[in-house]
Amino acid sequence: MAEDEDTDLLVIVVDVNPIWWGQQILKESQFTLSKCMDAVMVMGNSHLVMRRSNRLAIIASHSQESRFLYPGKHWKLGSFAESGDVNSAESTSSGSKDGKYELLAIGNDIITEEIKDLMAKTEVRAQLTETLLAGSLAKALCCILAPGITSKALRFLVFITTWPTLQTGRELKSRILVIKAAEDSAAQYMNFMNVIFAAQKQNILIDACVLDSESGLLQQASDITGGLYLKIPQIQSLSQYLLWVFLPDPEQRSKLVLPPPVHVDYRAACFCHRNLIEIGYVCSVCLSIFCNFSPICTTCETAFRIALPPILKTKKKKSKLPTLNYLTS
Ligand SMILES: [Zn+2]
Ligand SMILES: [Zn+2]
Repeated sequence: MAEDEDTDLLVIVVDVNPIWWGQQILKESQFTLSKCMDAVMVMGNSHLVMRRSNRLAIIASHSQESRFLYPGKHWKLGSFAESGDVNSAESTSSGSKDGKYELLAIGNDIITEEIKDLMAKTEVRAQLTETLLAGSLAKALCCILAPGITSKALRFLVFITTWPTLQTGRELKSRILVIKAAEDSAAQYMNFMNVIFAAQKQNILIDACVLDSESGLLQQASDITGGLYLKIPQIQSLSQYLLWVFLPDPEQRSKLVLPPPVHVDYRAACFCHRNLIEIGYVCSVCLSIFCNFSPICTTCETAFRIALPPILKTKKKKSKLPTLNYLTS
């Protein structure tokens, strides 16, 4: 069964914006970051047990950094990589006690340690409130496309995922799932769109599971790459939505009745103020978008011919000219 041997790499990007999650505690919401991480682990474990060749990476998207939670720094490559024996991996895993598959237990411990470490070591600063989502997505793409520049543990992961492709021509399918909490940041619009188009070129799906307010950027990402966008109606049931909607791979999805596609907010952010605009000016050379007319494109420095003179030649405009002269003299 050649199909069973395909490698499916799932990269989950979790928005761990400390301000948004802090507000959840203030609102006395039952849904905390640790509950969200539990759901992410359930999703990750389910993906890994679906097929022997499936691979997983989890990235935390904070307001100050993007970090790999899995495979993380605490991942002891050690003898596991060489012998393939999970029992020899150094870990304080409790997996053997409750009968859980040990590789999953070790993975979950690593994720828990990394997220604790990330939240403990980063200070919340008032100036940096936005989630670095574009950066995290770029990191996810790098992990899929260029294993050489990521961490040692990840290189190991990608090595074992790409290796079968090189040897026997088996397919490596990759997709990214974004679990989004905080609001969109229009300042990241350009970086975000670049990442989306890069993903589209490489046939990498971007799925979006939105916890709070609608995200125009992710709607575009899912629409362009052929992924799914869903703002979940009940935040408490995150793990159910992850398992029912986002766990099936794109081939299985065609056989399921999934939530209908959303209306995509295709507004672009102007390059001058990063405001979302419906009508604006587009540079005919570099396609930069501006909300106000400017005679020189600030991106590519093209000088535009101003279209005002033909309007001035009309009779009405001519009649106005003398009065103007009169007033100034
Ligand atoms: Zn502007
Ligand atoms: Zn231009």
